[in-house]
Amino acid sequence: MQLVLASANPDKVAEIKHVMAGVAELEPRPDSVPDVVEDADTLEGNARLKAEAICSATGQAAVADDTGLEVDALDGAPGVYSARFAGEDATYGDNVDKLLALLAGVPDDRRTARFRTVALVRFPDGSEVIAEGAVEGAISLAPAGDGGFGYDPVFVPVEGDGRSFAQMGDEKHRISHRGRAFRALAAALRDGGASA
Ligand code: IMP
Repeated sequence: MQLVLASANPDKVAEIKHVMAGVAELEPRPDSVPDVVEDADTLEGNARLKAEAICSATGQAAVADDTGLEVDALDGAPGVYSARFAGEDATYGDNVDKLLALLAGVPDDRRTARFRTVALVRFPDGSEVIAEGAVEGAISLAPAGDGGFGYDPVFVPVEGDGRSFAQMGDEKHRISHRGRAFRALAAALRDGGASA
């Protein structure tokens, strides 16, 4: 099976290729397709917008994903708005600073959070295969580590030894939300399940 990737982010592409090896041959996102406005109010909705745009531009099956960080003390924010939490042109650092400022004074046991990813394949006939992955953790008091991206320096997974995702290197991929979502997606594609 051949799938066109909706993401051009090299970190994400490498991780997705690794997980999907043997299940799908992944083609790079064509430069000619403009970025879609990710204005759905769910992760699944945004993943669908991205996959649909590539699928209809290329006539080929496309795969897309969308991720959110859900912080319990913030009633699930930033969630689907994780990329632009601190504004439209926010950097990763701006978003982390805003998160830490909002959590100032929140005690350790109430800093629980999770990353959630929805991965979706869209076929030209309109059918889809969808999978989800999540990882539980907590938001630390200060950033640590310089690997990874996004909120990695302040996300400490429960299934770890206290290091942030940004301190973990490749270990992150074994337990990460995206790793889990794409492994589930690969399994669903292997089982041949596409739903309209
Ligand atoms: P996207 O849907 O994968 O583009 O993710 C939306 C936003 O969530 C990104 O801009 C990052 O801020 C954050 N994010 C997604 N995946 C990760 C991750 O693995 N670690 C840390 N932050 C992430």
